[in-house]
Amino acid sequence: MTSMPQQAQANGTLLWHASDTEEVLANLGSGPEGLSALEIATRLSRHGPNCLPEPPGRGLLARLRGQFENLLILVLIAAGAVTALLGHWMDSGVILAVVVLNAAIGLWQEGRAESALAGVRRLLSDTASVRRAGRRESIPATELVPGDIVLLEPGDRVPADLRLIEARGMRAQEAALTGESAAVDKDADPVPEDAPLGDRRSMAFSGTLVASGRGTGVVVATGPRSEIGRIGALLGGVEPTATPLLRQIDRFARRLTTVILGVCLLVFGYAVGFGGYSREDAFFAMVGMAVAAIPEGLPAVITIALALGVQRMAARRAIVRRLPAVETLGAVTVICTDKTGTLTLNEMVVRRVVTDPNAPAVEIGGEGYAPNGEVEGNQAAVAALARTGLLCNDAHLRQDKSGWRVEGDPMEGALLALAGKIGLDAATERAAHPRLHEIPFDAAWSYMAVLTDGTGGAMLHVKGAPDRLLPYCAFQPGPDGAVPIDREAWAARIEALAASGHRVLAFAVKPVAASGEIGHADIGGLRLLGLAGFIDPARPEAVAAAADCRRAGIAVKMITGDHALTALAVAAELGLDTRGGALTGREIEAAKDADLRRMAREANVFARAAPEHKLRLVEALQAEGHVVAMTGDGVNDAPALKRADAGIAMGIKGTEAAKEAARVVLTDDNFASIVAAVREGRTIHDNIRKVIAWNLPTNGGEALVIILAILIGLPLPITPIQILWINMVTAVALGLTLAFEPPEPGVMARPPRRPGAALLDAEMIWRVALVSVLFGLAVFGLSAWVTARGETLAYARTLSVDLLVVMEIFYLFSVRYLHMTSITLTGLLGTRAVWFGVALAVASQLLFTYAPPLQAVFDSRPVAPADGAVVLGMGVALLLVLEAEKMLRRRWRAPARLQGDPDSRRIRPR
Ligand code: ATP
Repeated sequence: MTSMPQQAQANGTLLWHASDTEEVLANLGSGPEGLSALEIATRLSRHGPNCLPEPPGRGLLARLRGQFENLLILVLIAAGAVTALLGHWMDSGVILAVVVLNAAIGLWQEGRAESALAGVRRLLSDTASVRRAGRRESIPATELVPGDIVLLEPGDRVPADLRLIEARGMRAQEAALTGESAAVDKDADPVPEDAPLGDRRSMAFSGTLVASGRGTGVVVATGPRSEIGRIGALLGGVEPTATPLLRQIDRFARRLTTVILGVCLLVFGYAVGFGGYSREDAFFAMVGMAVAAIPEGLPAVITIALALGVQRMAARRAIVRRLPAVETLGAVTVICTDKTGTLTLNEMVVRRVVTDPNAPAVEIGGEGYAPNGEVEGNQAAVAALARTGLLCNDAHLRQDKSGWRVEGDPMEGALLALAGKIGLDAATERAAHPRLHEIPFDAAWSYMAVLTDGTGGAMLHVKGAPDRLLPYCAFQPGPDGAVPIDREAWAARIEALAASGHRVLAFAVKPVAASGEIGHADIGGLRLLGLAGFIDPARPEAVAAAADCRRAGIAVKMITGDHALTALAVAAELGLDTRGGALTGREIEAAKDADLRRMAREANVFARAAPEHKLRLVEALQAEGHVVAMTGDGVNDAPALKRADAGIAMGIKGTEAAKEAARVVLTDDNFASIVAAVREGRTIHDNIRKVIAWNLPTNGGEALVIILAILIGLPLPITPIQILWINMVTAVALGLTLAFEPPEPGVMARPPRRPGAALLDAEMIWRVALVSVLFGLAVFGLSAWVTARGETLAYARTLSVDLLVVMEIFYLFSVRYLHMTSITLTGLLGTRAVWFGVALAVASQLLFTYAPPLQAVFDSRPVAPADGAVVLGMGVALLLVLEAEKMLRRRWRAPARLQGDPDSRRIRPR
């Protein structure tokens, strides 16, 4: 299909897919070199930024309605209505006020959680590679305008609707637009006018992914005018799915509510039938119990804890795209990480060059990418190698205020610097040897080749992994021209360089007669020019992070495309355990599933590994019972990232395809950020447990007090509206502070939590029961004491309410440290959030006790200072008892751990 009818127009605009590329470019006033800066500015103001409008959030009414879709609130509303019918206006007013307050707090918390996630979403903006005024640039995708020339590579997300003007082996994954999951071929030929969207091969649509190949296209539509904009879909955002934990808690809360309502009915029956209560009093007691026992604030506080965690992780450079990752990160037992750029700085420099396998290596001086430094030894031989390194290269060096920078692959940048050191000028060499054809680098082949022209005729230049390239080499340079290669000598040099931590690359050439195209079949009979050894320093913070992992019982496994010996040397530098040796991609391929599980467990270094090996490794480790975090950047890493429990994509180096498959994106590609995110994940899990551990006994204690009173036949020690008061004051002022808790000391000094372990383990259930009973006993004891003294019921009730709030404050301090004693200076000093909460609770309680308007509503009485001191003393006593219990339990468990290790987190197969 060559030329389509000129009149491929609809409503005056060209039908891009059916028109010739020249026609499209002319129509858009653009050309292969791209637009000028002036033109871009005018177009940007005319067309607006290339982004889709934010999807409308849920309306206020809908969100408000959501607050009432809660069994407890419905129970409360019903209670309020019946109370009003009975003529208790004050009580029904308080109940309804609580309902309104609860809805308002719910709305506020939801708003905070949503804006936290939206803030994180904004961090995930796309970039696009464009050609503007003849120069290749990387720009934010929002700045694209119609007429821009966009360059596409595997893994890129297409940033706007493009008419392709060139495509090489390009396939696009268009599921986002057409629902078709198989990748479709793309080329630059026009297609029939009436071709449906899925058949418009000449177009690359915004939001779709480049699965393979390369392409160049001109922007024809941006933002809302693109096809995806028209269907109003949102892409690549942060998915606010509920996490398994949230669902678990939701289910738990609902079940608890039902059980409580059942118990209420039983108690009501008992109170009326045997307790001598009037129906009205029994009804009030029942309302009190329901209100007391249901942990109404729990789900909201937990949502906030998660949202705060997501924000904190973002501050540590880990952006959570899918909320469940917050939980899985905290439970990770093994981190599989890339080497280059993640564990190392990805700042390459050529330190050694070997051009003769029997002569010492040539040492290369200089720092960074600056093209100057000492080169000793055989200059001519090094220059020949450096020329191939320069021609077989797509990178550029640029000097700016901060020094020399590389645009493109850092390793290729280092080769340009080497060429500069030996006196070769990149622009001159490239002009003298124009590129005729190329085989781009592909990890599956581990080399890159270019065919160049020049005065000496056409020449094939190849650079690549030395162990892969060596078999294709037949010659090496001799004193008087090429001589047969001494493979053994070269292999020994490759090993020696790799074992000393160098990343090794081999360079080879072959004169060719024809100057047409080249393919993998042409790679053979090469003349090996020599080896270059690159140093890529380990990230200093990665060394510390790896040590953290060791203490935290998390295995770190390095997966790299590099040579096994280089990988082992770098692993040793990082302090990883290299006793298991290195496993290569070939060995992974050859291993049976059962063997691979063992091998994956024992080895920590995986070399010459390709993306497909990552998937098998994840599966093998998961079969061993591990919770696996896996990093990735390429388009082929997507399956492994999806399969991993926590797939982590690189934000800088990573392709859009990898980011889309991952649950977490690192904005700095740094291994240390993964470990920081794990630490945050553990903290969030701890905080959620703390929120629960604090909330449940509060409710349990109150409910116990009421049930006991009814069973014994005493007047209620606290009234329903007083309970509502406690729950509101404490849940808001105190419970929420736990969501802000910083990590406990030693959060990374304990083993990962057991995958799938229940949230409420035996230890927590015991604690909830113990504290509930202590709360109940204390309230009863105090009531009995003041009643015996002849105080009024109203006075006794006021003291009970004060006591419950004081005990909750002290219990808060105990709960802040689940894993150690709270009676330390830092423990007692608390955090700002804690003191703010405590101050709020204390102030409210003083008002409750002494302010006449509140006394009128809650029937409270001013408390004598001596009684106030007793209440305070009981709070201190509670903290001491709980801490003593914590210590006893730890002492009792310590010997058991040494013997039978009942609490060990040994990982069992799933
Ligand atoms: P790492 O895990 O350390 O990041 P990697 O997975 O990026 O390594 P690959 O990119 O798969 O490694 O590269 C594998 C090997 O291919 C490298 O060790 C190197 O020898 C060779 N290689 C890498 N990039 C190029 C390139 N641009 N040209 C030629 N050879 C290359």
